[in-house]
Amino acid sequence: MLPVFCSGARPVSAPERNSMTRFISDLAESLVPYVPGEQPKDKKYVKLNTNENPYPPSPAVLEAIRKESENLRLYPDPDADAARLAAAEYYNRVLGLEGEALLDKRNFFIGNGSDEILALICPSFFTGKKIAFPDITYTFYPVFASLFQIPYHILPLKEDFSMDLDAMKPLPGDVSGMLLCNPNAPTGKALGLEMVKEVLEANRDRLIVVDEAYIDFGGETAAGLVNLYDNLLVVQTLSKSRQLAGIRSGLAIGCRELIGVLDTVKNTFNSYTADRLAIAAAVAAFEDTAYFDETRKKIMETRESVTEELRKMEFDVVESSSNFIFARPPAPLEAKALFMELRNRGVLVRYFDKPRIDDRLRVTIGTPGEMKIFIQTLKEIIG
Ligand code: PMP
Repeated sequence: MLPVFCSGARPVSAPERNSMTRFISDLAESLVPYVPGEQPKDKKYVKLNTNENPYPPSPAVLEAIRKESENLRLYPDPDADAARLAAAEYYNRVLGLEGEALLDKRNFFIGNGSDEILALICPSFFTGKKIAFPDITYTFYPVFASLFQIPYHILPLKEDFSMDLDAMKPLPGDVSGMLLCNPNAPTGKALGLEMVKEVLEANRDRLIVVDEAYIDFGGETAAGLVNLYDNLLVVQTLSKSRQLAGIRSGLAIGCRELIGVLDTVKNTFNSYTADRLAIAAAVAAFEDTAYFDETRKKIMETRESVTEELRKMEFDVVESSSNFIFARPPAPLEAKALFMELRNRGVLVRYFDKPRIDDRLRVTIGTPGEMKIFIQTLKEIIG
């Protein structure tokens, strides 16, 4: 029998489980939940394990939250229109969209973090159908698929972790859609916009969901294509490049018809997926482009210098377009042992005990000061 977990991912003990089996659905009993990166409570770590942004939210965002808190007595706008509008204005401006491609609020959906949106996409578009995603990608995808009972086809990445485009152009005949993480996690590797377009062209009758959680750290967004490709749904988050992991805010960008389906499904289980503070924060975050650009630039610069340092220490580092790097230590060092020793010394990174990637560490890019401690600690361990 598969393990059963209660909320908070506390494993249920055998006696508790036995007393509950009469209530548990076969589906719940079959689930193996996603386990997010640790949020330790025991001591203070240099925390490089969950791809959080090391910089605080923009002062304009904090002020907007403070101001909006005066209205918390009232329900939020169930459509989160202010956030949809701010996101549309941002993308029209930075991508220089016009004519057919121009976005408006009907092209946007706002959710309680992008994980929730990815989950919502499953019953909206994939229940009763088969989807595809790579063997090495965001580990929540198979978990969503199991909850919504969606069979999936695995597309193996190439040896260098790049996508095998030939296997996707087109996708196999029995596949109705794809979850495409770009840049991919945990590799950090990005697919260029032209290649995303080729995948869209080759699969006009399949829904391609592009998860752009890390797009602002060096990738090319497909947001400008949604009115040109009705088989494209872009999913983004404010948790990473906009420093708002704690407030839970994400967005989907798609043609009006696709967004309309998400709205309908959302309104069958929770009218208010975006609360007042999240809406106010999202508006301010999309408006404060200067702070957004300044902080993501710092992260990208730090990423390049850390990559260089690690390569000097003979680590194999995948070229990253995200706010983390995926690095293999040189033999005889072992990733798992290194992960544990770093943890003992107060530096948390992420280790995945999974085939093909169990020889690597995923390291979130922190401030230059944090990365200095990371490199110094590594040097002390290696000796
Ligand atoms: N997609 C990917 C690839 C991620 O790594 C994450 C963060 N774990 C998410 C989506 C979800 O982010 P959030 O729910 O914070 O928006």
